[in-house]
Amino acid sequence: MALSARKAAPSRRKAPASSPHASRAALREMQEALERGEFVYDYQPKVSMISGRLSGAEALLRWRRRDGSTTYPGDFIPLAESSGFITEITTRMLPRLAEDVARLRAVRAGLVVSFNASARDFEAPRFVAALFRLFDRGLLGPAEIEVELTESAALAGKPALVEQLLRLRGRQVAVAMDDFGSGYASVDALSRLPFTSLKLDNGVVRRMHASDKDARIVLSNIRLAHNLGFDVVAEGVESEITYYKLQQSGCSHAQGYWIGRPMPLEAFLAFAAAGQTWPEGVIGMVHMATLDHLEWRKFLLDRLLLFKRLGLALTDDDLRHCQISAAQCRLGHWYDGPGRQLSGLPEYAELGRVHAALHDCARNIFHLLNADATSAQIATSIRTLSEHSVRVIASLQSVEQAILATSLDATK
Ligand code: C2E
Ligand code: CA
Ligand code: CA
Repeated sequence: MALSARKAAPSRRKAPASSPHASRAALREMQEALERGEFVYDYQPKVSMISGRLSGAEALLRWRRRDGSTTYPGDFIPLAESSGFITEITTRMLPRLAEDVARLRAVRAGLVVSFNASARDFEAPRFVAALFRLFDRGLLGPAEIEVELTESAALAGKPALVEQLLRLRGRQVAVAMDDFGSGYASVDALSRLPFTSLKLDNGVVRRMHASDKDARIVLSNIRLAHNLGFDVVAEGVESEITYYKLQQSGCSHAQGYWIGRPMPLEAFLAFAAAGQTWPEGVIGMVHMATLDHLEWRKFLLDRLLLFKRLGLALTDDDLRHCQISAAQCRLGHWYDGPGRQLSGLPEYAELGRVHAALHDCARNIFHLLNADATSAQIATSIRTLSEHSVRVIASLQSVEQAILATSLDATK
């Protein structure tokens, strides 16, 4: 049986291939379609919830047949994957992707286009080699794209997958774990594979406005990703309320019907050129920074106690591990990174000052420890550290108040 049209939606074709014979016919049809150039990418916008601006798009594969109907990935990717033909598609689509990205670049610079790769694409070096050829010929920049790999693919991670992902990372290509939260043991895959960002699963995100538990799962996943230093993209953002909830939870990017549906390239070029904006906000980030600070302090005090108990000397490596410099800790990263957006506020400058003083104090405690200071001297310094910490938290709250005041003014 060949891939046939769905009755209820004539413009949308489905591909049920149940018997081996049907599968062979369907595969042949797919091969011919690829030859004829019937596969194209639609683009779904992604926005930065921090700046409220378009940050890129996800390229989603579509089979546009000559009769004008469209077959969606759910109806042909499973067969393409099980037969291994997917790598032919992924690799042969790369020049097309590079052309699309070039057209997008001409309209608006600095956007990042992500595309989906299957675990099968990483079983041999072919796909990564084809991508690198595009880089080497100057047709595509490594910073212009991101590769998305589904969680289940990552879970089935074979040594070849890890090797190919590391090759990608070697050229600074961003790699996202797709559908995070939809499977099991994904936390394990996070530590084994070199991801740079996490895409929260569509389903959980869509349910978060109706279910408190789902909202908490999303919040915990955002925190987990943040702790591991990943960017977080929430998929399936279908309403303004979900957008705000995610923003308040410290999520950095959003994708979903509320922002824009997947659209053909021409439509996406117009969308990108229009320069639409969405609500910007860093309140969730300030909350994350506060938690970062509390965790940093806890980690530092735990280490101090351990070293004192074991009578160990602290090395430069230990100091780095304790993120002793203000620029190294996660709060510092935020301050010098996305937090810069707040540099117009006097509260932001004040936070920088109290944060630097806190780290000076921490460094001083470590010196005391190495100089065999008495327990009483160390206890006094720890008290001083706590006072600095209270100032940092108060300062973060002042920043939060200032942002809230500005937001409330804007909604008057
Ligand atoms: P995905 O990577 O998780 O892509 C997101 C899917 O969610 C897309 O479905 C998109 O249209 C849909 N979506 C986006 N925002 C919303 C929303 O707000 N609400 C709802 N209900 N859905 C939303 P699509 O295009 O049908 O793709 C389905 C899957 O097919 C993709 O899931 C991906 O796993 C796979 N796929 C798509 N393109 C490719 C490709 O080029 N290569 C491979 N290997 N897989 C692909
Ligand atoms: Ca994806
Ligand atoms: Ca996904």
